[in-house]
Amino acid sequence: LVTGVQTCALPILLARKAVCVLLAGATVALSAATASAANGAKTIEPSKAALQAAAQLRDRALQSNDAYDWLAAISTEVGPRQAGSRGDAAGVAWLRDKLTALGFSNVRTPEVIVPHWVRGEASFEVVAPYPQNMVTLAIGGSIGTPEDGITAPVVMVQDVPALQALKREQVEGKIVYFAGRTERTRDGSGYGKAVRSRQEGPSAAATLGAVGIVIRSIGTSNNRIAHTGTLTYNIGAPRIPAVAISNPDANLLERQLASGKPVNVRMRVTARDLPQVRSANVIGEIPGTDLANEIVLVGGHLDSWDPGFGVQDDGAGVIIAMAAAKLAANMEPKPRRTIRVIGFANEEFGLSGAFKYPADEGKENVDRHAFAMEADLGAGPVWKLSARVPDAHWPLILGIHRTVKNLGVELGDNKTGGGSDLGPLRRQGVPTLAPALDATHYFDIHHTPNDTLEQVDPAKLKQSVAVFAVSVYLAAMANGPVERIATEPNARN
Ligand code: ZN
Ligand code: ZN
Repeated sequence: LVTGVQTCALPILLARKAVCVLLAGATVALSAATASAANGAKTIEPSKAALQAAAQLRDRALQSNDAYDWLAAISTEVGPRQAGSRGDAAGVAWLRDKLTALGFSNVRTPEVIVPHWVRGEASFEVVAPYPQNMVTLAIGGSIGTPEDGITAPVVMVQDVPALQALKREQVEGKIVYFAGRTERTRDGSGYGKAVRSRQEGPSAAATLGAVGIVIRSIGTSNNRIAHTGTLTYNIGAPRIPAVAISNPDANLLERQLASGKPVNVRMRVTARDLPQVRSANVIGEIPGTDLANEIVLVGGHLDSWDPGFGVQDDGAGVIIAMAAAKLAANMEPKPRRTIRVIGFANEEFGLSGAFKYPADEGKENVDRHAFAMEADLGAGPVWKLSARVPDAHWPLILGIHRTVKNLGVELGDNKTGGGSDLGPLRRQGVPTLAPALDATHYFDIHHTPNDTLEQVDPAKLKQSVAVFAVSVYLAAMANGPVERIATEPNARN
């Protein structure tokens, strides 16, 4: 991994005195966890020199057009990168080549096996009382319908608990319509509440004998575009097809239901599963100096949905991570810890890359991760800085916040996990930094055909890169030892 570097071993081994030993050419397994055995975490904070450099780094990031140019390039040269698709493979090659061209070290693409679901076509129409074609997308992972589709009466519910309050005879043989709306929120919590209908709705409905489901799109757009995303079929339930209709179509369907006349619909889906495919996590590094054996991980997920170009979800995240690391690499003093950039494989269809990464690394190398962070909520701006670090390390977060406060960034809490791909690492105790991207408008375009470059504001993207760059740099510069966080076996985000 990191060889031929000067490793400052003693500050960790002796724990409290900054005495540095040069170990040229050696790889020393210094685990922050080993040090954390000591009772009571030590306060860590950036030095004055690091804070001065961080302010300069912030200003340079605000001047740089690189991130926008790279985001334009990946959306043009690759486009959508759905797991298992040709675009997925092209995205892996694109990021590998880009990291190499930018001078990252140890660029590699460890294999990740991913599902390969093919969308095919989907249609949804009201047959009666007032025939109407609706704008539809199959929900990711949905099975197909018979060739002629399924025609059935509709039963409307708000959400999964409301469905489960119904009796079997109210649902059997019908298509369940989930009407729950996605609330517009800055922190994305509205999505988190609404998404259960998409994830759990199909199996919950099938358990009561439904033949299909249709959901109001999990998204906030008033335009006539549908939002896709995944479902999870329970092993014990029959599999039934599932589609999402646009919000205006959902409104129209509800007006027809409100007429009191029986509403019949027809849905047709030609989606299918193909055999699993080899994809990859994509990794590149900026080697550190005296703490090179410790890692600051920053990334996003490289896969995307297929209707748009995967620009905000999550091309922007990968590009923000890459741009932040590259800017940090050019600062003096040089980053002490190794900065590792990662594009995770297949977040959308089940976090394949997120689980494979710590499995590949093994416990010993996971323990070398001082901090991890992910961008996966659009193209900015960052509005809040949160984290999940040992309480004694909070002064580091305060140092980062002081540097980016003038970019409109609030100080958040110390309870935030910072990204779905970080879950497996966090559950092994890796502390997270969580610059929060503003999700107010994100769910207008999320998982839709409108996830395009036109929706990205270059100034907001620059601001996001600046906040991530300062976070990455100061995390790489802080003194140590960095302790572990308490592990939460059931934490999701
Ligand atoms: Zn997504
Ligand atoms: Zn995402």
